[in-house]
Amino acid sequence: MRGKKQEINCSFCGRNKEETLVLVTGLSSNICETCVDQARDIIADELYGGVYPEEENRREEKPSKRKEFRLPEGTTPRRIKEHLDKYVIGQDQAKKIISVAVYNHYKRLSFPPTMAEEVQIEKSNLLLVGRTGTGKTLLAKTIAKMLDVPFAIVDATVFTQAGYVGEDVESILSRLLQVCDYDVSSAERGIVYIDEMDKVARKADNPSITRDVSGEGVQQAMLKMLEGTEVLVPPQGGRKHPEQNLVKMNTENILFICGGAFDGIEKVIARRMNSKVIGFGSKDTKRIEEEDMLEYVTHKDVRRYGMIPELIGRLPIVTYLRPLDLEAMKRILTEPRNSLVKQYQHLFRLEGINLTFSDDVIEYLAQTALEYELGARGLRSICEAVMTDAMFETPDEKDIKHLTIDLKYAKAKLEGGMLEVLRAA
Ligand code: ADP
Repeated sequence: MRGKKQEINCSFCGRNKEETLVLVTGLSSNICETCVDQARDIIADELYGGVYPEEENRREEKPSKRKEFRLPEGTTPRRIKEHLDKYVIGQDQAKKIISVAVYNHYKRLSFPPTMAEEVQIEKSNLLLVGRTGTGKTLLAKTIAKMLDVPFAIVDATVFTQAGYVGEDVESILSRLLQVCDYDVSSAERGIVYIDEMDKVARKADNPSITRDVSGEGVQQAMLKMLEGTEVLVPPQGGRKHPEQNLVKMNTENILFICGGAFDGIEKVIARRMNSKVIGFGSKDTKRIEEEDMLEYVTHKDVRRYGMIPELIGRLPIVTYLRPLDLEAMKRILTEPRNSLVKQYQHLFRLEGINLTFSDDVIEYLAQTALEYELGARGLRSICEAVMTDAMFETPDEKDIKHLTIDLKYAKAKLEGGMLEVLRAA
């Protein structure tokens, strides 16, 4: 007589041995491969917040392989420029050049070269030369927002070469990591705007630069980062402390946009072009207004100014931003998507008030910013000085439905020393 064959089942899901791939047998119970997987997930959730530490490490080792990047549908250089036009006034040449550079850069990311392809598109890091407050940062910021990539602004003057008091240049990348919550793969395709690049120019070539130690040292330190290599980054920024776990980042796909005023570079350009700038000399053969001289800026001029050739080599695209004139200032006040006038109108609309500015007020505000050399950045403080009383009082005045800021009102608010205060600020 044959005894009944004993059934072996998974003690968790009840499946028969026949139905499983693997059934692990214990002293008094069994478990199948599916239930092992589920148990693993439960342990990960309970103990490690969803991911096992060893898996997390594995992810960090190959960050750039994790996510694919695609340019937003329909993006072309023209589209990028059209988008910039909504936020940045004027600066057409810079916008065009930046749109092409950024498009090519991200196209390169969208279609990584295969082994079979011989042509490799090189990185198109940019150098923007233009006075302060002409829209350099705004351009970089607007592009990053459009492409939805992480964006960080850093100031070159806080960095010093290793060994001196100050921050290591690697902390430029820490900022990028911080803005995307330490998602290394996102940070690795972000945009960094390095401001005040001219302040790290070499002193010997530019007697007007007063800071010392690190000009060239900082430039040297930046080299590696800009060219696209693996860099060890202190996640919290600052100096590399031995106790800090460094994060490995690949800078190959990070777009670096550097900007600087390069005060006085017009003279360098003029000398190279062998022509005289108005105000710099007389008997001009070819007279080019000082303000227009920047149009002709080249790598050579930047080098003369005190940037080291190796670093310039890693910033293959140089372009310029024009100084803002009265017309540009007026347009900045009214035209961009989030112009100051539109912002105030929105604020008042929320109070049920229709706010208008007379044309001569716009002219007066723009003229004041120029006269007091406050630049486009100063427009905000000028407007605040004009609008503060109105913003303080109107919320209590329920009957007001319309408010027009006219020249008399604006002048009254700015008089009495307010302009001097703004200038001193
Ligand atoms: P910088 O050239 O020093 O980087 P920013 O881009 O930071 O100057 O400009 C400062 C502010 O001035 C901007 O946030 C913006 O409000 C205004 N601004 C400057 N230039 C322009 C411009 N061309 N179009 C619109 N706004 C501008």
